[in-house]
Amino acid sequence: MILGCIADDLTGATDLALMLSREGLRVMQSIGLPPADMNLAEIDAVVVGLKSRTIDPADAITLSLAAAQRLQTLGARHLFFKYCSTFDSTDRGNIGPVAEALLAFAGGSATIACPAFIATGRSVYCANLFVNGVPLNESPMKDHPLTPMRDANLVRVLQRQTAKKVAALNIAQVRQGAPALRAAFNAAREVGAAMLIVDAIADEDLRCIGAAFADLPLITGGSGVAMGLPAAYQALGLIARLAPPPARLAAPAGRRIVLAGSCSAATQGQVAHAIAAGMPSYRLEPLKIAAGAQSPETVLTWLNSLPADQTPLVYSTAAPEAVAAVQHSLGREQAGALVETLLAELAKCLPQHSVTRMIVAGGETSGAVVQALGILSLVIGPEIDPGAPWTLGGGMALALKSGNFGSPDFFTKAWSLLQ
Ligand code: ADP
Repeated sequence: MILGCIADDLTGATDLALMLSREGLRVMQSIGLPPADMNLAEIDAVVVGLKSRTIDPADAITLSLAAAQRLQTLGARHLFFKYCSTFDSTDRGNIGPVAEALLAFAGGSATIACPAFIATGRSVYCANLFVNGVPLNESPMKDHPLTPMRDANLVRVLQRQTAKKVAALNIAQVRQGAPALRAAFNAAREVGAAMLIVDAIADEDLRCIGAAFADLPLITGGSGVAMGLPAAYQALGLIARLAPPPARLAAPAGRRIVLAGSCSAATQGQVAHAIAAGMPSYRLEPLKIAAGAQSPETVLTWLNSLPADQTPLVYSTAAPEAVAAVQHSLGREQAGALVETLLAELAKCLPQHSVTRMIVAGGETSGAVVQALGILSLVIGPEIDPGAPWTLGGGMALALKSGNFGSPDFFTKAWSLLQ
């Protein structure tokens, strides 16, 4: 094994695993801490998916260090800390505190931080993060239910989360090529910078960043920054040949379902598209759940009333104003927890109802669902859209999608990649 990755949420882990697989590594994704005796005979990279994005920073550090320790025991030569391409975090963390702890663990004095992921519209320019061409703080991320992002300047954002010095490497330095970029990094490190926000506005920038930093003990970033790593490992002689990614997934026969617990803009579009396309739908509302009017049982009763060949959609997706109103009356965490718990309890019952093919929209939501299903590892299958593959785990085909990923027809088109 060459690369050990720690992702702060489950769909982020899947996104990174897909990127590494697409670029030629043989990847295994572990949900939570991988077993110490994991069979890694045919594996180049292990991606550990945690649920640490929005927990207390001290707990996020503990979980991340335990994962790093286990990955090192399993033979990882390099570590990668993966967070969201929209830098989802609050001023308390957890990107800064976890990066700091992992850097100390890995034995490096500096690392990079780059969430850019061009294929999904995330670019970094002059250390400012843009989402589909709009500054982060003007994008729909400003209204995220758990991590509202109100500042696009990542030096400022990250500096609020760490006592280490944060600085930046700009696009001109990146465009000078990998050796010059690495020299600029070394120079910044010598004057005390420990975390360098790196600009990237095209895939060629991400590949250059991969080549410049593949030998660092720790890299931090979105999945985009992993794009250049497999080729860089090959150039370094760490891997003999790159493996072709899978084109389709052999999935177990059974019923399909879509569970959407994300309120992100992309998921809102996908829910609207699916309903317009005629997908039968059940809308969850936190106030109804709190009042006992909606429960896993009410959803199952509805599901069982549908013909088995239909693809039902169960969603809590709501517009920012509706989310704000319900958070005002129930509290942010309570509103989210009600939805997550219901979807997780529902998911637990689905195998008994012959469901074997499932799309889940939302990072936290996917984490709750997979935990409820008791799934420990995922095999990465074909790419549905950038950042979102089919996977196989616990006898089910699962597409675990970060809320903001995927085209509007994701819920209707994904099934054609299953055989
Ligand atoms: P994303 O990947 O888009 O960030 P997540 O699943 O990670 O999606 O986060 C969405 C959060 O919002 C979850 O905690 C979810 O339970 C919560 N949530 C979902 N629907 C609603 C709603 N209608 N009102 C309030 N909170 C909601």
